[in-house]
Amino acid sequence: MKLHDIGEFGLIERISSGTVNNPEGLVAGIGDDAAVLKTPGDKNLLVTCDMLVEGVHFLPKRITPYQLGRKALAVNLSDIAAMGGIPRHALVSIALPIGLALEYVDELYRGLKDIAQKTGVNVVGGDTVRAPILIIDVALLGEADPTTVVFRGGARPGDLIMVTGNLGASAAGLNLLLRDDEASLATAGEANKIVIKAHLEPVPRLAESRVIAGIRSATAMIDISDGLASEVNHICRISCTGARIWADRLPILEATLRVAESIGKSPTSLALYGGEDYELLFTIHPNLAGDLKATVEKATGTPVTVVGEIMPPEFGICLVTDGRLEELQAKGYNHFGGA
Ligand code: ADP
Ligand code: MG
Repeated sequence: MKLHDIGEFGLIERISSGTVNNPEGLVAGIGDDAAVLKTPGDKNLLVTCDMLVEGVHFLPKRITPYQLGRKALAVNLSDIAAMGGIPRHALVSIALPIGLALEYVDELYRGLKDIAQKTGVNVVGGDTVRAPILIIDVALLGEADPTTVVFRGGARPGDLIMVTGNLGASAAGLNLLLRDDEASLATAGEANKIVIKAHLEPVPRLAESRVIAGIRSATAMIDISDGLASEVNHICRISCTGARIWADRLPILEATLRVAESIGKSPTSLALYGGEDYELLFTIHPNLAGDLKATVEKATGTPVTVVGEIMPPEFGICLVTDGRLEELQAKGYNHFGGA
């Protein structure tokens, strides 16, 4: 059997057996946005890591080193946000081709340090090695109050599914970056600039997460790294539920609509399957949804939108378009394709 026969998530499941040898200190291990560990104090420790690999996650000609360093930490901050936590300390490992200009590494760290400073994160260590391609791997530690940490597994039938911000802009931006040459990217129009920025400079939803976790009414939460469809499937699998997503309620920017049209892609597909939005998706009892939406929007200025509803497991996971139902497949980004 090959990796593509089981896919990234099948592989993670396979790896995860036999990994817990001392369950006492563990609240949640493999399977959520970050591991949740007990500490001698009154807080839980959150731990997550994410790696950016040249040629897989980025093309050096399409992202500046400043943006790359910033993004390497931003995607990890998003995983801490997905648990309702506060990021604290980072370890940064870099693999560098030997001929790389020193200024490139300086810029990489300038981007990383800028977002670390803005979010109050210390860089406390890491590793530096030589490799044929550039790789940045950040391990991030955070903390959360055990009573407010939000897992992927608590969604219940009847809960509404809500997302922060907007969906699909990052995927639209990636399409442009892969299609256009440097000259046309440099002279891109306003809509193109907005979506390219969404892809290269994602904003982790830390402030929104603190409000959502603080109110303690969300039943499950995840960040949207692989696409809404994939994340809804994760929530439903772990929560043992079904779900329906209303296609006409997906929050999509005007700029994304325009770029989608210009590149001949469906904006709904970009929003569902594109990924790298780094928005938060969470579920909540319908009676509490209106208040939470108003509180998050007032505190952060970020819009919150109801995009669907958690259903009983026998309903399955469906997309509703003009009253028509179809299965919502988890066909977001998956490193090995397959299942
Ligand atoms: P995310 O998209 O939120 O970063 P991933 O899909 O990368 O999450 O990972 C899902 C879960 O699997 C996480 O709990 C992560 O820590 C775990 N995981 C991923 N790769 C491995 C691995 N090689 N060994 C052990 N656990 C892993
Ligand atoms: Mg995540």
